[in-house]
Amino acid sequence: GRSGPEALAELGAVAAALGASVGATRIVTDAGWAPYERQIGTTGVVVDPDLYVAFGVSGAAQHTGGLGAPRHVVSVNTDASCPMTALADLGIVTDARALLTELARRLEAGDA
Ligand SMILES: Cc1cc2nc3c(=O)[nH]c(=O)nc-3n(C[C@H](O)[C@H](O)[C@H](O)COP(=O)(O)OP(=O)(O)OC[C@H]3O[C@@H](n4cnc5c(N)ncnc54)[C@H](O)[C@@H]3O)c2cc1C
Repeated sequence: GRSGPEALAELGAVAAALGASVGATRIVTDAGWAPYERQIGTTGVVVDPDLYVAFGVSGAAQHTGGLGAPRHVVSVNTDASCPMTALADLGIVTDARALLTELARRLEAGDA
């Protein structure tokens, strides 16, 4: 549907405002919502960020295998017991799409 591209556009805006870059899982690149060079994982690229924020990422080994050794990991997921949240420093159990929209709103308002 249209929600994927819209979410990725919003993610890009939030990332730009924070000085971050956008990565994706294979689900996202296979859907065509992000280019393959943005896929993090064993069949994608390897990153090694200071902070990794996972919006609705389950944390499959093929994905986390591309994460390097991030200093901080935040996982936003409706499933508190998913592997991504299990390895995170901070787990936020909420709707990732709604949180992203709220982040975008606050960053645009300049009151972040
Ligand atoms: C040989 C092989 C190589 C692979 N290589 C890679 C690779 O390089 N990179 C890669 O990423 N994957 C790779 N995969 C795929 C990998 O195994 C996983 O299928 C993939 O990483 C899962 O992506 P995902 O977390 O986006 O999706 P899913 O596994 O579908 O997880 C979605 C997550 O979002 C959560 N969620 C759903 N709705 C919401 C919501 N509204 N708010 C918050 N959370 C929500 C769910 O609880 C779940 O945790 C490979 C697989 C194989 C077999």
